[in-house]
Formats: sequence, C-alpha cells, structure tokens
Amino acid sequence: MKRIVTTTFLAFALLCATGCCQKAKYVFLFIGDGMGFGAVSVTETYLGQTDSTAIGMGQLAFSSFPVMGAASTYSADHQRTDSAASGTALSTGEKVNNDSICIGPEGDTLTGIAYKIHDAGYKVGIMATVCIDHATPAAFYGRSSHRGDYYEIGSQLGSTGFEFFGGGDFNRPDKGQPDCFAKAEAAGYTIAYGRDDFAAKKGAGKIVFFQSRDTARNTNQLPTRLERIARNNPADITLKELVSGAVDVLDNPKGFFMMAEGSMIDWAAHSNDVAGLVNETIDMSDAVEVALEFYRKHPKNTLIIVTADHETGGPATNKPTLYKLQSMLEPSSGNETNVDNYMSGEHSLSEVSKIAGIGWTAGSHTADRVPVYAIGAGSGKFAGEIDNTDIPRKICEAMGVEF
Ligand SMILES: [Zn+2]
Repeated sequence: MKRIVTTTFLAFALLCATGCCQKAKYVFLFIGDGMGFGAVSVTETYLGQTDSTAIGMGQLAFSSFPVMGAASTYSADHQRTDSAASGTALSTGEKVNNDSICIGPEGDTLTGIAYKIHDAGYKVGIMATVCIDHATPAAFYGRSSHRGDYYEIGSQLGSTGFEFFGGGDFNRPDKGQPDCFAKAEAAGYTIAYGRDDFAAKKGAGKIVFFQSRDTARNTNQLPTRLERIARNNPADITLKELVSGAVDVLDNPKGFFMMAEGSMIDWAAHSNDVAGLVNETIDMSDAVEVALEFYRKHPKNTLIIVTADHETGGPATNKPTLYKLQSMLEPSSGNETNVDNYMSGEHSLSEVSKIAGIGWTAGSHTADRVPVYAIGAGSGKFAGEIDNTDIPRKICEAMGVEF
C-alpha cells in the first residue's frame, strides 16, 4: 500500500513538473532550421572543450529542459523533407509534398495553428533570422504551392492580423506591383527598421520589426553570429532581440503564441561549416534565454518548445578537438587566426572540420529524427518518439484551443 501511495505521489509530482495541470497561456515555439541531434551535440562539445585537456559537454539554454522527445520529419512525398513541408507539418499537423506551404497533396488548403490560436483570442508573433517570406515562417501565416513564390507569400502577411512579425526583410518585395511593404502598411501594419525605430514604434499596434536598412548585410537576412562578431556593428539586431521585442508587443493577460526560427543553422550545415553551425546554434540558444526568463516569471502558464524542422548535414563528433575551433575564433587570444581571418576564408571549410574533428554525412537534409525539448505547462505531451505533425496538435491541447 505504502508503495502504491509513494508511486502515485511521485507520478503526480512528475506530472506537475511537466505542467499537465495548468493551461499554457504563453507559448514559445523555437525552430532551429536543420538543428538535429548532431548540431546540438557538436555545439555542446564545443562549449565543453575549453582546451586540449578538457573533456565534457557544455549546455545550451534548452539542454536542461525536463522533457525531451524525438520527432520524425518525413513529408508526404519524400523521406527527406524540405523546410516547406516540415514547416507546414509543424504549423498545420498535416503532411504535404516538399516545396508546398499549407497546401495538401490533393490541393486542399490547410490552416496553421497560429490562425486558430489567434481566433481564440491570443496574440501571435512570427519571426525568423532570414526573410519573413522564407519557408518556415511562411508556413505559419502563408499558403503557396511553391515556397519560392516569395511575392505571393509576402503579400499575405498583411491579411493575417497577427500582432508581431520580425526578421531580415521581405525576400522579393515587388514584381512591379505594389510591394509587400506597401501592402503590409495598407493593411494597418507599422514597419520598424532597426532597434531604435522599433523602440519608438512598438506601441503603435500591429508591427513588423526588420533590421535597419543601412546595416543590413543584404536585405534578406540578419547577419550571422560570426558576421556580427567580425564587424562589431552595434546596430546589428539578433533573434534574441526579436523575441524580446515580441514579448513586449504580445504580453497580455489572455496570452500569446510565438514562433521564432533560428534559420541559418541549416545554411551552415548545408555548407558543412562547423563554426557557423556552432555559432548559429548558440545564437538560437541565446534567444531561448529570453523565453526562459519569461517562464521564470510565469512558470505555471508558460510552455516553451525547442525543436527543428529537419536535420541537415549529419555532423558528428568523430575525433572532437573543438577547443581548436575556439582558439581559431577567439579574437583576443593573440592567435593570428581569429574570427576576421576565419571569415575571410583563410581556411577552407573542410579544413576547419578536420581541425575540429567533425565529420559530415551530407551536404543536404537527412531523414533523421530531430530533438524536441519542452518545459512548462503541457510540456509532458512532447516526451518520447512523436511525429512532427503531432506538435501543433499538442500545442493546441496545452492551450485549450480547438485544433
Ligand atoms: Zn535546408
């Protein structure tokens, strides 16, 4: 009897720690594009190895989340998904063909959870480190048979009514037609360019937070973490600032849902660029810190999920000597090779991987499962092996929103 009581108590305590008892009012969904188990492992090893004698694993902001799952990512027509199909799965709970944003294999139109959550009275924010019409953010507000139809996708932003968007820019602002900026403004959005402009305008209602145009590396994406370190331009904005800005705009007694994508982990992995991979993963982890800070203030009603849309590159710590990468990138080490030299391409990317002891299995996406980290209200639902299509349904369950 005593054992039954103890077991029941322990089970109850565990359930409470994973937040089954409270409704999630404030939900953060982070998607590391291409951030598989390998990317996390390589980055944690990088953080753990400080010199030739150090053995160990460091931790990212989400490494210590109490719930962990692994999601399958295949699309309707490929074992290896692309970001359009996997973004759609994470947004709508439906498998679609690669290249397709919220349009099913039979041409059926699908509705993402951001709309359902918004209709239920929550505020909504969508942000990415690349352009806002790129596949993953697009899957949370747009619809198109082809992910490359940037103008068509960007044109749909204004009609969403979502309270916050953030990112690099619109990818293809116009085709000689009214551009996406004008369309968003006509729909009642204020567009802020850069930190100061955003601070001045963030009380203005529905807002789009883009980087300032004079500091943009190009108009499509935020600078990478390594680029920011190398050029040290204080006007550069980060995913962390977008998330923090979104909290300012979205925080209200009813609650909110936000999706924030660390988009360029994928690009580094496609190039088999280990330094880029590590730095973009750290960059997203820094953004997750903002959500954790919010969670600590509202632990009973906040849910944070960190996952990936798919794995890219298949990196593995073959003979990890990542401390060598640290000294290559450390600007103050007195070492001739620092981040500027690194960025100027002094070493080839394959040479850098060799120096760091990292192997790659692909220059493309792989079909591996991806990690799912969760903490807070309803986080227990994300444990174990799940499918990517389960994730939006579980978010709606946690929020009490009809899926
Ligand atoms: Zn990719």
